[in-house]
Amino acid sequence: MRGGLSRSQFKETSEAIFMNSGFVYDSAEEAAGRFTGENEGYIYSRYANPTLSVFEERMQALEGAGGARGTSSGMAAVNAALMCQLKAGDHVVAPKALFGSCLYIIEEILPRFGVGITLVDGTHLDQWKAAFTPETAAVFLETPSNPTLEIVDIAAVAEMAHAVGAKVIVDNVFATSIFQKPLELGADVVVYSATKHIDGQGRCLGGVILGDEEFIEETLSPYLKHTGPALSPFNAWNLLKGLETLDLRVNRQTDNAEKIAAFLENAKGIQQVIYPGSDSHPQADLARRQMKRGSTLVSFELEGGQDKAFAFLNKLNLIDISNNLGDSKSLITHPTTTTHASVSEDLKRHLGISEGMVRLSVGLEDADDLIADLGEALS
Ligand SMILES: *Cc1c(COP(=O)(O)O)cnc(C)c1O
Repeated sequence: MRGGLSRSQFKETSEAIFMNSGFVYDSAEEAAGRFTGENEGYIYSRYANPTLSVFEERMQALEGAGGARGTSSGMAAVNAALMCQLKAGDHVVAPKALFGSCLYIIEEILPRFGVGITLVDGTHLDQWKAAFTPETAAVFLETPSNPTLEIVDIAAVAEMAHAVGAKVIVDNVFATSIFQKPLELGADVVVYSATKHIDGQGRCLGGVILGDEEFIEETLSPYLKHTGPALSPFNAWNLLKGLETLDLRVNRQTDNAEKIAAFLENAKGIQQVIYPGSDSHPQADLARRQMKRGSTLVSFELEGGQDKAFAFLNKLNLIDISNNLGDSKSLITHPTTTTHASVSEDLKRHLGISEGMVRLSVGLEDADDLIADLGEALS
């Protein structure tokens, strides 16, 4: 609620929005001192801005990190977290089950700059073990994964990565900082699409990167400063407002998700329900060990493939068809024709993203209303 709060001379209750690009100096000497680092103070909003600083300090406190930097989107955060520390000749290991754009960076962009990559089945620790080489500089993973909600054992992967000196980057969007603390499990860097639960109200894009002080100050900050994926102060303010209710929202959304998962497990016409908070999840023990709760996403597979999945989506009245997630409004998507449309058929089959699968991001509506909507569409 109050991390990083720094009120101006007007003593405003809510955080102020410093909607400015630059800053002025009392003298040429003062300006010169800012640039040498002798004088404290802001220089330019691509480097730092007071509203962003409040957001960054609050995220740092929430995550228990040594430092944090905001970015213009979640993808800007993922890209910077990788690019700021990699060089030609390095090697990266990642699971195949990744958010589409994260997979694109790893599979398509990194190799263009001479970075070797190995993709593994994230749930198979023997594949992780076999993938590491002395050149492995970074691991990038997402858990639970999108949309099949697979769980990667962060502590086990971190131990293997650290044995070869590689840094572990965790995309913690699905679990949120409320339910999973990757840094405590051994990860080195955490990234968020703040667009998702942190805003959680459909207003803006944003991202954040967290890690120890040395990584943030020495490795990440110069990269961000000179490449410029800066977060708008207005969006930083939106995200600050989101952080005030993050814990309340994700816990309430998770209450709803638990009820919906239980309803779907007994509903007709459904082949499989995947929810990390359910005993039926194939990795229920691991999920319980590293996550406090199952979080806000439920994936399920309808009998009858794409035709039935489309018919089901089209019959929903309350739940919106949308590929966003983590929102206070419940949103549903058919991954194989939307978020994962560009993934090869082979990989989709391998990952278990079937034509009947849908991914539901559970919102804050009344659980009974949501269950009624799902039940009517199913029947
Ligand atoms: C949405 C998302 C991203 C990308 O975030 P944007 O804010 O849309 O750029 C990255 N990783 C995961 C897991 C996401 O859900």
